Amino acid sequence: MAKMKAVVKTKPTPGAELVDVDVPVPGPNDVLVKVIATSICGTDLHIYEWNKWAQNRIKKLPQIMGHELSGEVIELGTNVRHIKQGDIISAETHIACGHCYLCHTGYAHICINGSIFGVDVNGVFADYAVVPAANAWVLEEKIPKDFASVMEPLGNAVHTVLAGDIAGRTALVTGCGPIGIMSIAVSRVCGATRIIATEINEYRMQLAKKCGADLVLNPKKDSVVKRVLQETDGLGVDVVLEMSGNPSAIKQAFESLRPGGRFSILGIPDKPLEIDWGKQIIFKYITVQGINGRLMFSTWHTLSRFLSSGRLNLEPIISHRFRLEEFEKGMELMASGNCCKVLLYPQSKEKSLA
Ligand code: NAD
Ligand code: ZN
Repeated sequence: MAKMKAVVKTKPTPGAELVDVDVPVPGPNDVLVKVIATSICGTDLHIYEWNKWAQNRIKKLPQIMGHELSGEVIELGTNVRHIKQGDIISAETHIACGHCYLCHTGYAHICINGSIFGVDVNGVFADYAVVPAANAWVLEEKIPKDFASVMEPLGNAVHTVLAGDIAGRTALVTGCGPIGIMSIAVSRVCGATRIIATEINEYRMQLAKKCGADLVLNPKKDSVVKRVLQETDGLGVDVVLEMSGNPSAIKQAFESLRPGGRFSILGIPDKPLEIDWGKQIIFKYITVQGINGRLMFSTWHTLSRFLSSGRLNLEPIISHRFRLEEFEKGMELMASGNCCKVLLYPQSKEKSLA
């Protein structure tokens, strides 16, 4: 059996190991890809650090980590017709069953039988990976190949920004991690007229400005609600895009949103939150919206058009590039917050791509 290198979570303790494993064999409905680039997501860092969430969520070890990928299709399962060898693909990481009530009614992204790459099944931090053909997204030629690995989190941003009106609106983006920054860039492309962001990390504050925020506030230094009200004629912003999961950012966001506004939440708090329903939601007549994953596959069509048209450029959002072997460096950077998207390249022979 052919072997490949992979970053594997071998033990229920912090860290991961680079080990030789068998090259996976695609089933009849899968494709086998040679991984061109893969990127590190916050979820990978949780699994790497083995925090409480990971301890409760990960059911089976050892498991290959990672879920964001750009790959070249090198083998097709016997039933696969719509993809050919040599295609470059990205992948939707929510694997849907296709036959439950939610799949049948346009909600495959929240399929009740769903599973996720690198969380429930082997992932893509490896030389090769198997992807269900139904989850493969064939990249248009105009889009740089390694951008494909960032399309999945970009889809989270596109889904959140476009979950309601954005053109001509003012927006507050709370949290400028990679997805917050992508939400700023997408809001700009979609015609938001004033984009205010909050973030506590200096590196990310700078990047948020570079990617299109009109004003970036640091809640540790600035009085966020007061500044947002000043910037919006005392009204508050039309739209909140919550991208931090942080309780104090969420509280500030509620207070910064105008009556009748939209509050779209992607950020995941790590514990239950208390909120004044009457004051912040009911009497303010706001719409609060949970956002999960990407619409399958309308979000993918939209983000593909943003990229192939050249309207949206991911280059500033990819802050670091390393060889796969250097994954520990990437994880350390992610933990520091002094980065945006960190890409790992399994096939690169170069010493370091950083
Ligand atoms: P991230 O953790 O890199 O970004 C969060 C950012 O919030 C960080 O830059 C952090 O410094 C900042 N922050 C912390 N406290 C803050 C405060 N008080 N005010 C303002 N900013 C503050 O995460 P990410 O990868 O960009 O993802 C964004 C969020 O979306 C995370 O909570 C993640 O878990 C969640 N997520 C949800 C889905 C989904 O489908 N719902 C998918 C992917 C990610
Ligand atoms: Zn389903």
